[in-house]
Amino acid sequence: MFKVGVISVDDVLMRAAQRIGGLPLAVYVLALLVIPLIGLGALTLREIDRNDDQAAAAAAVADAAAVHAAAATLLVPLEVERIVSIGLVSIDELGLERSLVTVLTGVDFGAISLANAERLENSFESLAALLPAGSAWLGDSDLENVRQGVFDERSAVSEMQATRASVERRFDAASQLVDDLLMWSAEPLELAATDSSTASGLADELNRLVDVVISARNEADALASLAFSPGTIDESTVIGVSVLHLAALHEASDDDPAGIGVVRSYYDAMVPIEPWMYEVNPSLALDPTVVSRLADALVNRAEYLDVVSAYSIDRASEITASVDRYADEAESRNHTTMLTIAALALASLVFGFVMIRSFASPLNRLRTHAERISRGELSSQQLSLAGPSDVRKVTSAMNEMASTLSLVQEHMHELARSDRVDQADLRELPGHVGASMRTSMERVTALTERLRASEARLAEEARIDMLTGLPNRFAVVEYLEQAQHAASQDEHSNVTGVMFVDIDGFKSVNDMHGHAVGDIVLREIARRLSGAIRDVDFVARLGGDEFLVVVDHVSGSETLAAFGSRLIDEIEQPYSVGDRLFSVSASIGATVLEPGGSAMGAVERADAAVYQAKHRGRRRVEMFDATMQRSIEHQAELELALRQAIQHDELRIHLQPIADMSTGLPTGAEVLVRWERPGVGLVQPGEFIPIAERSGLIFDLERWVLRATCSLLARWRREGRGLRMRLAVNISGHHLIEGDLLADLDHALSSTGADPRMLEIELTESHLLDDVERASSVLAAVRGRGVTVAIDDFGTGYSSMTYLQKLPVDVVKIDRSFIATATANHFDSTIVESVVTLGRALALEIVAEGIETSDQLAFAIGAGVTRGQGFLLARPVPVDVAEELIFGVPLFDAGAVRVGVDARDHR
Ligand code: C2E
Ligand code: CA
Ligand code: CA
Repeated sequence: MFKVGVISVDDVLMRAAQRIGGLPLAVYVLALLVIPLIGLGALTLREIDRNDDQAAAAAAVADAAAVHAAAATLLVPLEVERIVSIGLVSIDELGLERSLVTVLTGVDFGAISLANAERLENSFESLAALLPAGSAWLGDSDLENVRQGVFDERSAVSEMQATRASVERRFDAASQLVDDLLMWSAEPLELAATDSSTASGLADELNRLVDVVISARNEADALASLAFSPGTIDESTVIGVSVLHLAALHEASDDDPAGIGVVRSYYDAMVPIEPWMYEVNPSLALDPTVVSRLADALVNRAEYLDVVSAYSIDRASEITASVDRYADEAESRNHTTMLTIAALALASLVFGFVMIRSFASPLNRLRTHAERISRGELSSQQLSLAGPSDVRKVTSAMNEMASTLSLVQEHMHELARSDRVDQADLRELPGHVGASMRTSMERVTALTERLRASEARLAEEARIDMLTGLPNRFAVVEYLEQAQHAASQDEHSNVTGVMFVDIDGFKSVNDMHGHAVGDIVLREIARRLSGAIRDVDFVARLGGDEFLVVVDHVSGSETLAAFGSRLIDEIEQPYSVGDRLFSVSASIGATVLEPGGSAMGAVERADAAVYQAKHRGRRRVEMFDATMQRSIEHQAELELALRQAIQHDELRIHLQPIADMSTGLPTGAEVLVRWERPGVGLVQPGEFIPIAERSGLIFDLERWVLRATCSLLARWRREGRGLRMRLAVNISGHHLIEGDLLADLDHALSSTGADPRMLEIELTESHLLDDVERASSVLAAVRGRGVTVAIDDFGTGYSSMTYLQKLPVDVVKIDRSFIATATANHFDSTIVESVVTLGRALALEIVAEGIETSDQLAFAIGAGVTRGQGFLLARPVPVDVAEELIFGVPLFDAGAVRVGVDARDHR
């Protein structure tokens, strides 16, 4: 690579290419067509110019040729006239009679002169016509002067006024003029002769013709000198001029053999010039024989000159016509060239446009296709091949690219669907894309396999309960299915027993001593259960404090129940953790695998039985029976009906007003749900809330209640009443811990426009304690929205007092069981009083619920409870009835009750 300064030639070419690189292809094609066209045009113009030059040269030659021929033609009559004039003047000088000489010699110079006069005149005229005034050839009046001189001299000769000297002078001048003209006109001819064109040949030919004329004239002139001025000319001169003339004829005969042949035969027939004619003594000039021969020779020359003249005029006009034609041809050649060039240019432009059209539209389609591909629209549609072969090649490459891309896309889709791609399919993909695609696929496949392996491992691990090391609930299902299968095959009618073990009072261990201790106890229970069963039996932890025991080959229900009792005994043995001793008990529900039944069915039956066992006082084994079966079925039915009830809007809300204890005036109400079941009537929540909680319907149900309550609050707000009132909605612990209470609350408030400060939610304390952290954070957020939080059924839990300080609550509702017995039972009244004291210390509102008698009311007031709720004050009623109570008079006479309290205290 060589360099120019610091920039390499490559750089320059690159830059140039970049600069013009952005132009459309059509411009290149046009340039490709137009640039050679311009070159061709330039060449043609040059050719036309050359042709023009040639035409001009030919025209100049033609002009010169015409003058040359005319001048040569004039020579002949001029020479004849000169010979005649000299002859006559010589006769006069000899003192002879002209007529006598004519008689003696038979030569009549006067007649010859007369005959010559016309041709002389014509020759002058045609020459004058060729030399217009001001022509470059001569001065303005030169030709006219010579002509006038010749005719003046002619008159002088006929009137015998002329002398030999005057004649010589006049005709010398004329000859001089003709010679000048010949010389001048010969110049362009000679120029043209050096040229190689056709015109040069013609110029040569004309020159040779003129040579014939001049040499004939010279010969005649030589003879005339011999005749009229003997001794002035010698033999060699005479022979010389003859030889020159014959040479000229010979030269010209190639050009026109026939014409020159005729001239030549005239020449040969003439009286020859013989040696004696010029050897004679001047005195012999009067010898009649000599004179007559000379005169004959002279007349012959004059006639011969006529022949030469006539021939040369014809021939010269032919030649000049040829030159003219040549000029014309040059011109018409130009015309043709111009036409050809124009046609060529037109054709190439048409071709150019056809070409541009032929690739422009396929290119355009290519472009849109490429744009579509770059937007990721990979249709399977292939571009049809059209246009020039290059464009076709690009198009088919584009098609291949698109199909490769869509193959890639297809594989991607397949991968997304099925996590593995058939390697055989991938082989179709070419090049690097294919290679990297194959590698990716292999990796994905390997990864998927690893994932599957670890999934399997996880599943394996998932079958084991991490705390106790026992099989977990998933393992239970598997085990029971196998056992069920084995039982169905067994012909010995052996019974397999399934026992649901639920630890009683385990919550209090957790609550009082913490989860770490609870975990130790659970592990110990697991150990004892595993120790109590045989190898063929199976024990698993279902979760929390629930275990499942499967006992193979039991003889009947009694044996099973007895074994259950043994298990309870085992569990009831004290547990020592550190220096502390604990004791828990258990309730057991038992059933047997039914042939053809389902594994989960057995667990459900055992669950129903344990529920019964707890219900019947705990620490006992309860066998599943037909009554329970019916209750299970009833529950299932109820669940289905409740699901539809929520959808079909069969729920209602009733309100139970709550009163301010110091005034008796309503402060709001508790919202209690009812189910208006078609064909059954009003169903109380006690019957369907537990089902809703177990089946998860509780979320939908409470969303419905929240919404109904907020709608009511919004209506009150619009009506401008009850702005100080609060409606308290019961919220299940499931909803608080597992559901999305905040979102449901927000939705109810925002979709109705209710004021959050008019809303209260009630949660039972046992629920709050399931997951204190989660409960605290959700409740804090609820309060953050302005909604009041109450703890419901307070006192039924185990460690209520401890948690009261920790939980973000505003209201405590003392469970009605305390109120019911407070007036009779000193322990319960003390509990109520201490709750009030603690509540006051924590700045909480205290609500007493379940006030049924005026004694209870009086006790509650006396204990310092701030608000009261109960059948004595108001029952739960439909909304319209409740509104009359809430916005009406006090629910009790505060003054009267107070008197009663005072009276009792006084006693
Ligand atoms: P709760 O939250 O303790 O509601 C108060 C229950 O006590 C109501 O029973 C009410 O009618 C009753 N009650 C009120 N005053 C007295 C009285 O002086 N003496 C007696 N013996 N009872 C009285 P109800 O309406 O049958 O509700 C039963 C339970 O159903 C409620 O107990 C509550 O736990 C639940 N519940 C009601 N509505 C809903 C709800 O919308 N969501 C949830 N999760 N639970 C609800
Ligand atoms: Ca309640
Ligand atoms: Ca309650």
